[in-house]
Amino acid sequence: MNPAELLLGLDEHQTVAVTSDAAPLCILAGAGSGKTRVLTRRIAYRAAMGTLEPKHTLAVTFTRKAASELNDRLRHLGLRERPAAGTFHSLAYAMLRQRWAEANRTPPELLDRKSRILGPMVSSKRSLGVQAIDIATEIEWAKARMIIPEEYGAAVKAAARKTPTQPSIVAKLYAEYEETKRKKRMVDFDDLLGYCAQAMEQEPEFCKVMQWRYRHLFVDEFQDVNPLQHRLLEAWRGLRSDLCAVGDPNQAIYAWNGADSDFLCRFDRYFPGSETVSLIDNYRSSPQILAAANAVLASGAPTGNDSRLRPHAEAGPLPTIRSMAKDSDEATGIAQTIRRQHDRGVRYNDMAVLTRTNAQLTLITDALNKLAIPFRSRGGANLLEQPEVRTALQTLRRIPAGMGFENALSDLVDPEVLDELTDDRRANIEALVRLGHDYAMIDNRANADGFAAWLAASQRSGDAPGAAGVDLATFHAAKGLEWPVVFLAGIEQGYVPMGQATSAEQREEELRLLYVAITRAERELHVSWATERTFGERKAARQPSPWLAAIDLAIESMRSGAEPADWRLALARTRSVRSTGPGVARARLAAPASDDPLLGALKAWRGSTAKAAKVPAYVIFNDATLSEIAAAKPRNEVSLLTVSGVGPVKVSRWGQTVLDIVAEHA
Ligand code: ATP
Ligand code: MG
Repeated sequence: MNPAELLLGLDEHQTVAVTSDAAPLCILAGAGSGKTRVLTRRIAYRAAMGTLEPKHTLAVTFTRKAASELNDRLRHLGLRERPAAGTFHSLAYAMLRQRWAEANRTPPELLDRKSRILGPMVSSKRSLGVQAIDIATEIEWAKARMIIPEEYGAAVKAAARKTPTQPSIVAKLYAEYEETKRKKRMVDFDDLLGYCAQAMEQEPEFCKVMQWRYRHLFVDEFQDVNPLQHRLLEAWRGLRSDLCAVGDPNQAIYAWNGADSDFLCRFDRYFPGSETVSLIDNYRSSPQILAAANAVLASGAPTGNDSRLRPHAEAGPLPTIRSMAKDSDEATGIAQTIRRQHDRGVRYNDMAVLTRTNAQLTLITDALNKLAIPFRSRGGANLLEQPEVRTALQTLRRIPAGMGFENALSDLVDPEVLDELTDDRRANIEALVRLGHDYAMIDNRANADGFAAWLAASQRSGDAPGAAGVDLATFHAAKGLEWPVVFLAGIEQGYVPMGQATSAEQREEELRLLYVAITRAERELHVSWATERTFGERKAARQPSPWLAAIDLAIESMRSGAEPADWRLALARTRSVRSTGPGVARARLAAPASDDPLLGALKAWRGSTAKAAKVPAYVIFNDATLSEIAAAKPRNEVSLLTVSGVGPVKVSRWGQTVLDIVAEHA
């Protein structure tokens, strides 16, 4: 292809990014601004200009889905040779395999699950009272940060990390795990990165060959690089400067895995001599969807990252928020809407249902199955691959003759057993039990083996690659992807944010995750939540996500005539927002009684605080939150925390002052 053709369909900023001679080059820009488009075009453009050889190019990303997206886009650019594109793990593994082959060594076995080693180790020490999976989490936490067993104790202390048991016990199990793995000649996923980096650092020949072979480096989603990946990248790069990284700090969602968006935000410090360019327009989402996304970002702590994107796509319908009585109604409602859209000519492939956790997707698949709607799961690991699910299936296999299958299922959701597990794992077990009951409905001689076969078959049929179908994915797995119509389900406290996200940093990451999810939508966004959810045999009342109010405000101000880009201005002008639409929350967003002196005092305080901090007033608390505080008149921090829009960060900053104002007016 000639170079000029490769610049067609790029705006002026994108053109600069594609053609820039800078090395290293960093492209820092918001969601849907064309970062991935620029990255792939830059490879093709430079190939056409003769400054890059595709077969000597490495394009790295983070998830399998993102890698296949990258590959798809590269395929369409008409390159004669294809660059190596993949995840850090897959690329490192390929390099190691080659090294083992060249050294005539049988490759070590790849350990797919840490619990294969940790399981027997932990159960032989039952007295420790820890679960293999918790130790696995700790080991992964440590390895992403390049922390060896001897350093673990000091590291968790420095990070103020909650550990499942005494740090010295974890460190010992970690050391023992590493030793067993070594003796059995096995490597785990984390080892792939560490071993590859080590080989590059310690074996000059191998290093030279790899650096020669991959002399042009491109990294997508750079905000999610962790120290171990950074080390590997540096090893691949050596002293050369041909590195192009693209990313968006507002989409950093892997801090739990040690990712540090500083590598992106302070790119010039880590990569001296580099240049950073930015992109401004959003080409993916309608202005209405962007307004909702921006509203969510704005309800977090100010980050200093200017997140505003200029909408470029055509105007579309307002996003919708639906609250449903039960989780199953929510799933059915989504399936029915999908069916209607399909009847109107929207392809199944153009729709996606996204949830915070994998386990939530099973309800959705049930509902889609009932309406015979095809789907494909693009989730991370599927339910059957989860260690706690495998353990549960094994337990089911061992049930004594005479004990009914459904009784055994009920035992799995015994509160005492479940209480041992964290939210996500508990939800997985609950999803499994729900499926078990479904299966028992159709097999009157139900048993564990039959269940496993049924599960495998039904999960596989939903995952037929290439088949047409609605995409189902977690927020994490949806990163980098896009669909014309997106449904976000289960936008409730406990999921968004997750219950265990208690620190300010964790909550900010959860907020960014919601932002990532919203910005996947091109034309239509449908957000929903349920007031009651069934967990195994227990029903729980649910509250909307605290961030739903921000989306609702944005929708309502657009409904009352504000331009999508100006919804904040409109808010300021109308001062109080009248909620007319469906959704969260008519009650919570109701216009405040203007003569309430407490509300007046709260607003006056907010005005002066915002002015002093040089931030817009809604950053402190939005109108809906102030009205709710005025109505609820909380007396202590705990009740203040139950007001939506009030999180721990805000309580620590302004809680006491707000409580004082409330007390004055009591
Ligand atoms: P994310 O942050 O979600 O990874 P991104 O910045 O990588 O997003 P892309 O996926 O590259 O964004 O682009 C978003 C969408 O906009 C894609 O469908 C892309 O083809 C389209 N797009 C990008 N630039 C332009 C342009 N100049 N003209 C028209 N469409 C564009
Ligand atoms: Mg992208």
